[in-house]
Amino acid sequence: MSSIGRSTAGLLVSDPDTRPQTALEARSPFELRVNLGGGLPESDVRSALATGDMGFLHSFTTGSAVDGPGVRVVAWTTGCMWRCLYCHNPDTWTITNGIPVTVARATEELRKYRTGLKIMSGGLTISGGEPLMQDRFVIKLFTAAQAMGIHTTLETNGYFSDRLTDQNLDTIDLVMLGIKTWDQERHRRLTGMDIGPTLAFARRLADQKRKMWIRFVLVPGLTDDRDDIANIARFAATLGNVERVEVLPFHQMGKFKWQRLGLKYTLENAEVPSPELADEVCAIFGAEGLKAY
Ligand code: SF4
Repeated sequence: MSSIGRSTAGLLVSDPDTRPQTALEARSPFELRVNLGGGLPESDVRSALATGDMGFLHSFTTGSAVDGPGVRVVAWTTGCMWRCLYCHNPDTWTITNGIPVTVARATEELRKYRTGLKIMSGGLTISGGEPLMQDRFVIKLFTAAQAMGIHTTLETNGYFSDRLTDQNLDTIDLVMLGIKTWDQERHRRLTGMDIGPTLAFARRLADQKRKMWIRFVLVPGLTDDRDDIANIARFAATLGNVERVEVLPFHQMGKFKWQRLGLKYTLENAEVPSPELADEVCAIFGAEGLKAY
């Protein structure tokens, strides 16, 4: 039986943080974590998602210099509606693989790092999984972070961005938007989903002059079509709010998760991109006037 109580209104009122704890902090998101919220009744999970009073986190990691500006704490959420062939954290696809964490607990965890994050010009990044599967929790945590003077960054595929009001967007200092590929068919093969909502979110952020970085995962033989990349670059250049493009080299660090979860991994033989290929792709973005790294 869950230790989570309810009010008559069905809201989560007692603290799931009294449950036996798996450490929220992980050395890296590459720790395989499964079924840490699996004991909760489905109604509690639904209630948590609706109110955002509780979320599900794979982990917190600290000291990241690659997930936004400065040095950052990253909250890795669980739940994703996409099935990217190169996903390196497929254990985050299922919401209940994450640890149930109240906003209050997550905020207290973050408070520990508040001073250090400011000194290191960093902040809080919420990544996943896909954070907008838990949009209410994300906005509550970002609101708490901003109240502590902590910079906020959302890494997202944008698919559920219409869940965010413009007021919600005010709680996000920077969006890092993943654009996986340009061609519609290839996008469906690669992710299982349409690219339309991602591009619509990019345009919305641009219209509102909100800061954005674009993240592009480079996989030789899968996402390295030069014309396709040039199309992404041309689109990004028209937006006017893209501060940088991050070209992320594919790696095989998540392969063991696919194997351990019994999932069919199709990139067994995919190679890590060479530095020359990464430079060439950066140059395609650079030719459109974008800063690419
Ligand atoms: S959007 Fe991210 S978390 Fe979701 S499947 Fe793709 S790579 Fe994995």
